[in-house]
Amino acid sequence: SVVRTPMIIGNWKMNLDHVQAGQWLLEYAGSNEGWVNRMEASNTMVNRTEIGVLPSFTSLLAIRDMARKTRMTSELYFGAQNVSELDAGAYTGDISAQMLAALDCRYVLVGHSEQRRYHPEDDDTIDQKVRVVLDAGMTPIICIGETKLGRDNGIGIDYALNQLVAAVRLLSAADMCKVIVAYEPVWSIGTGATPEPPVIESALADIRDFINATFGADVAEKVRILYGGSVKPDNASAIIRRYGIDGFLVGGASLDPRQFAKICHRV
Ligand code: PEP
Repeated sequence: SVVRTPMIIGNWKMNLDHVQAGQWLLEYAGSNEGWVNRMEASNTMVNRTEIGVLPSFTSLLAIRDMARKTRMTSELYFGAQNVSELDAGAYTGDISAQMLAALDCRYVLVGHSEQRRYHPEDDDTIDQKVRVVLDAGMTPIICIGETKLGRDNGIGIDYALNQLVAAVRLLSAADMCKVIVAYEPVWSIGTGATPEPPVIESALADIRDFINATFGADVAEKVRILYGGSVKPDNASAIIRRYGIDGFLVGGASLDPRQFAKICHRV
């Protein structure tokens, strides 16, 4: 069976300008050094966690340059928080997938709940965004999750699954293998409230079941599914221990490089 590499992705949201981003990376590299050396010394066969951050567009270049300078390019990947679904042209203020690929972005977040809430983001643009990100050779991280209203009305996971149906409707099975899904209940983002670990486990199992039913067992076995919503160093171990959870999307706790490194070390 396929071993899925665990991953931790930090979503900085609208924080850290390009100077602060460079500083973050320096501090992260410092707090991480001993850990990486220990891992390498103890067992080279270890399935190392894939770690990445999602800075603002304006901080991407600084992160790329600082990662090169500190020789962190294979320790810490990066990507963007959003992308235009269009290729190029008269779309003032938008950023294309090609531009992000040119900056060496590995990931692009698609459909984060804050984009869905504050911008006219709908299922028709999200499926196109997933498409253009893949076409540009990057990895889409598709965010899904129910609101508090949805949960109170008993339509938690169905709501999230409907979002996933819409987001992946332009994809072949081969495309789907490259996608990452992040399950983030909206009521858990930035609130300090998380579902109980068994509830997270069962939500992610429902998502994998959907992928299995739609794209087949081989694909379902390969797709990484992350949990997001108020993950901190304190709760990371209890959640990751559950079955089928491939890692985390971390918002608030990723802004402090030491806190973020702590989460990474617990996975
Ligand atoms: C997020 O924004 O994707 C997120 C998970 O935020 P937080 O960790 O702050 O809840």
